Amino acid sequence: MTLEIKNLQATINDTPVLKGVDLTVEKGKVHAIMGPNGSGKSTLAKVLCGHPDYEVTGGQANLNGKDLLELDPDERSLEGLFMAFQYPVEIPGVNNSSFLRMAYNAKRKYQGHDEVDPMDFEAYLEEKLKVLSMKTRFLDRAVNHGFSGGEKKRNEILQMLVLDPDVVVLDETDSGLDIDAMKVVSEAVNFFKSKNKSIIVITHYQRLLNYIKPDIVHVLADGKIAKTGEASLALELEDKGYDGVFSEATV
Ligand code: ADP
Ligand code: MG
Repeated sequence: MTLEIKNLQATINDTPVLKGVDLTVEKGKVHAIMGPNGSGKSTLAKVLCGHPDYEVTGGQANLNGKDLLELDPDERSLEGLFMAFQYPVEIPGVNNSSFLRMAYNAKRKYQGHDEVDPMDFEAYLEEKLKVLSMKTRFLDRAVNHGFSGGEKKRNEILQMLVLDPDVVVLDETDSGLDIDAMKVVSEAVNFFKSKNKSIIVITHYQRLLNYIKPDIVHVLADGKIAKTGEASLALELEDKGYDGVFSEATV
């Protein structure tokens, strides 16, 4: 068992957004989180990675038995958590390749390994770029600066492959991707699953789940997990919409 969330509650600007989320993601499992706009999906992701705008007002989150909520965001990353943002930030002036190397070396150091030199890192990085069919020119640019929506999402997945985290949260990584990019990104995620990682895929659309088969699907509504089911739940949602599925659940 890798990520364990119990009764997690959080506010932003004193407004409650997460109202008691329970979720356990075991190794090698893909959990999809779906749900209407504004239900708290991105909030859950951001609270897990320690975003300073959110205040945790109750509950727990443990990563490999450690209290995640006690850790700073960088420590959470060093402990093996990774988050791909719905809206990746641009960092003008910071070279993408240097950024990746520094993040990678920080993790190696934390794990008690030697840092890799730029040459060795380049070889490591090229291997990852190939997996994502990304051109090396993306490495020479500033992090996400001027990248198209789809390029930013691919760059998030590149970070994931480089850092090799144990638990990943992908927040609407499919939005902005064309079909080819979605296949490439899905392959990278499926490769991760095969390495016994824990994966949370937040998505609005069933479409992505044709490529990344979830073991479990949750629906987040008004800050709580309102329904949990198998992969077929995503199809049912596509067919009937959130209202249709919920009216059935409540009769
Ligand atoms: P989702 O990702 O499911 O669409 P979010 O987690 O982004 O939903 O948002 C959940 C709720 O929190 C929404 O009602 C949104 O308006 C609110 N919210 C998010 N950020 C802020 C903020 N900075 N200030 C006030 N409310 C916010
Ligand atoms: Mg969102």
